[in-house]
Amino acid sequence: MPRILITGAAGFLGSHLCDRFLREGYEVIGMDNLITGDLRNLEHVFPKKEFTFYNKDVSTFIHVPGPLDYILHFASPASPIDYLKIPIQTLKVGSLGTHNCLGLAKAKNARILVASTSEVYGDPAVHPQTEEYWGNVNPVGPRGVYDEAKRFQEAMTMAYHTYHGLETRIIRIFNTYGPRMRLNDGRVLPAFIGQALRGEDLTVFGDGSQTRSFCYVDDLVEGIYRLLHSDYPYPVNIGNPDEITILQFAEEIIKLTGTKQKIVHKPLPKDDPTQRQPDITKAKQILGWQPKVSRAEGLAITYAAFKALPKDVLYKQEHRDFEGFVRK
Ligand code: UDP
Repeated sequence: MPRILITGAAGFLGSHLCDRFLREGYEVIGMDNLITGDLRNLEHVFPKKEFTFYNKDVSTFIHVPGPLDYILHFASPASPIDYLKIPIQTLKVGSLGTHNCLGLAKAKNARILVASTSEVYGDPAVHPQTEEYWGNVNPVGPRGVYDEAKRFQEAMTMAYHTYHGLETRIIRIFNTYGPRMRLNDGRVLPAFIGQALRGEDLTVFGDGSQTRSFCYVDDLVEGIYRLLHSDYPYPVNIGNPDEITILQFAEEIIKLTGTKQKIVHKPLPKDDPTQRQPDITKAKQILGWQPKVSRAEGLAITYAAFKALPKDVLYKQEHRDFEGFVRK
């Protein structure tokens, strides 16, 4: 039975990855310090003997007893409001946390896949974004703590590959959604659905002409699975190229939820990328991968999951009133 360590296991993507690898017959070791993760995402796998959990900060020395075949490094805050609230932890997990994971992979002779992001492209001057584009990032802006940590992560991972001959994989993840996203983490999809469920107006930042391209979580997990088992060590974009403006997206959510509320505009956050769409030519060619779930299907599943959440989760303040959100 292959053994895999998944960092960020209690998060949105990490918990879906635990499910997938358990289903594929792996022994899964989950690690998370629960700073943004939630054990409720993993409760159903705790009874399995093939699953172990460490409540541990990956930014400090990590050790896992016994052999390891694979490591997936998915620990990191991933919402712009989280970066503002916990900037130092965000920088540390992408840099020191990555270094620790790479060191562990080297010690165990394990293959490692690190979760990078479309944020390495910053506010992109090239559209759609190909892996060859080097990006347009403001290192000292509010997103810099995430973007630069992830860029450092890629550099460090490539260095371990070229210098130590470590088997490494790098995925650049574009906006992904699905059940188990934190309802109040400030990201646009849970924000809009949460607002609709609470009977609040939907807050579109700026005029809503900025674009994003949303990928359903099962498609992303399939892409990760294929990339891990490929022999390609360079970054690969995984995302759904179906691009939409945020204003259109708000209108879709209003239709989906049947809310009677309206759209209100709020100032655009500083350095908010104006457009984002993955070029997935590489994923198609190298992994034979492309997304299968349409936004209509994926949103229906996600809305049903959010609707079923208990009231205390729906009304938890968390980041909704976070004052430090830097605006232009
Ligand atoms: N956004 C919005 N209203 C919200 C939350 C986000 O209009 O309540 C916008 C945000 O300004 C950005 C897009 O939605 O242009 C996606 O934001 P998110 O935080 O989900 O992720 P990003 O892709 O910016 O990292």
